Amino acid sequence: MSSECLFCSIVDGSIPADVVSETEHTVAFRDINPQADVHVLVVPRVHEADIASLAAAAPEVAVALIAETRRIAETEAGGQYRLVFNTGEAAGQTVFHAHGHVLGGQLHAALPS
Ligand code: 5GP
Ligand code: ZN
Repeated sequence: MSSECLFCSIVDGSIPADVVSETEHTVAFRDINPQADVHVLVVPRVHEADIASLAAAAPEVAVALIAETRRIAETEAGGQYRLVFNTGEAAGQTVFHAHGHVLGGQLHAALPS
């Protein structure tokens, strides 16, 4: 948990979000600036900077996060989706708390950055 971290604040409820699912390990909420018909962010409750760091530190949480993306896509987008993990600033990552972008339906622009 980092008090400086936007997604930790969404996980702990101190910053509001349009939450679509919560599990033991994850919280999922709608992206504030959607880049596709369906654009949901799935984040671990634990703070890790990116998906690779999460996989190294807590592989069971990384697997739970990926499994949750399918459940969300089945509910939101007929089960067909893109899953994007921007990893590192040069790759377009802007929030350094691991998160998967679940993108369903039509993309509104290029892949999220
Ligand atoms: P990244 O660029 O790090 O891969 O993705 C960060 C995502 O977080 C962006 O798509 C951005 O629109 C989204 N985002 C940034 N601030 C907020 C916020 O306060 N609430 C929500 N729901 N999404 C946010
Ligand atoms: Zn965090």
